[in-house]
Amino acid sequence: MYASIVGLRASLPAYKASLVLSDLYRSYDMQRQAHLDYVTGKKKAYSPPPGGSMHEAGRAFDLELDQIKKLGLPAFWPIARSFNLVPIIKSPDMSLSEAWHFDCRGSHDLVYDYYNAGNGTNFESAYRAMAASAIVSTGQKVDDLGPDPRTGYIQSGLIRLGQKIGNMDGAIGPKSRHALAGFNIDPALPLDAIVVEIERLLQKQFPKEYFTHSPSTLETDIPTHLLASTMLSNVVSAFAASPAFAASYVPPAASRKVLGGISQLVAQAKVINQAFKLPPRMLATLPGKELYLDSELQLDTDGWANGRGKGDIYWQPDTTLRYRDAKKTSIDSNRVPYFVLPLPESWPTQFGISLGDYAAVVYKDELSFAVFADRGPKTKIGEGSIELMRKLGEERLRSNGTVINAGMGPNVITIVFPGSGKPEHRASEATLLQSMAGEGTKRFKALGGVLPS
Ligand SMILES: [Zn+2]
Repeated sequence: MYASIVGLRASLPAYKASLVLSDLYRSYDMQRQAHLDYVTGKKKAYSPPPGGSMHEAGRAFDLELDQIKKLGLPAFWPIARSFNLVPIIKSPDMSLSEAWHFDCRGSHDLVYDYYNAGNGTNFESAYRAMAASAIVSTGQKVDDLGPDPRTGYIQSGLIRLGQKIGNMDGAIGPKSRHALAGFNIDPALPLDAIVVEIERLLQKQFPKEYFTHSPSTLETDIPTHLLASTMLSNVVSAFAASPAFAASYVPPAASRKVLGGISQLVAQAKVINQAFKLPPRMLATLPGKELYLDSELQLDTDGWANGRGKGDIYWQPDTTLRYRDAKKTSIDSNRVPYFVLPLPESWPTQFGISLGDYAAVVYKDELSFAVFADRGPKTKIGEGSIELMRKLGEERLRSNGTVINAGMGPNVITIVFPGSGKPEHRASEATLLQSMAGEGTKRFKALGGVLPS
């Protein structure tokens, strides 16, 4: 939506027109008021009750038709469409009601198609089903989908990922559970964990919907309420504990014993500006230049030698970091605790961190050392290997060898030591594990950390 508005705005002067918006985002309460105003005759244009408008998802705008009058609607429509903005009326006639309203349907269009094809029957129109899907995806409730938007969001995600689950009704029944299992998501996981996994699949499937080219301009260009409703991985940030970027950050109580003196260093840490989609609770550099991250930990199975067909559709045989053997063997996710840092390559190097450097990773009272072995999407931070999660107390392989696609946390603390890895450490897995333990222990203790007994 952001990219659509900015792109359209920039292109219009060439046609001697300009984009002036009279309405954009409406909350549940704002939409209810608009509907009441319509019902009581205060407002002439039709406003549906809450749950049926793309405005509630930050995916619709109303524009000032006067500003595009000379260009004309028939010429404006294809321009708007080239920015994925579609009109809500059927013919480009300025005199029609709602001629001013355009939607950015995004992947929610798939929910429209799904209902249009008769796969679900509980909404009065395919449009209203699509709007409900878009709204719960911002973390806002839709009455038709029950009091908790997470269940509707999970179903909306399953439909957009191509699953047939019958009605999207906010009740996770056998069909939804079956579809989750098909993605290797354990339906018995807590709702938040399922939301995170669905979110991960959606981000992979619809990257344009989540990632824009200039995240640094977002805060200044767009009001916060709209930003929250359109750009972020909304559901997760809406439900998870809110990130604390301020000096008020306190390390998790469950980890304070292991962190020891590091807790005091955190108070002097320099907070790093960032716009990650699953915002870490804290991202900063400590006075000694170590990188300090308090985040969720997503699972990366890359490099797992037996990983093919074991249930992670994103599994790849190779990691970015390799051993220095003739075959350039990858680092095995199931055998070596490793962590991932985001692309581009310049992101870690700005902190003096190179592939092969070590980190201490703390979760509750567990400690594991880990090696920087893989790079991830530039919009995400907080990812680690199967063996890292195992060392932190959470097993991700079932007894039959398939993987449970679930992250862990929040409150996983990763402290990266710049310059701690050396090429000679990577002669083999054995030398890497030994060097990791040696360097990690030395640096963690020097920083004030306490090895668990
Ligand atoms: Zn409108």
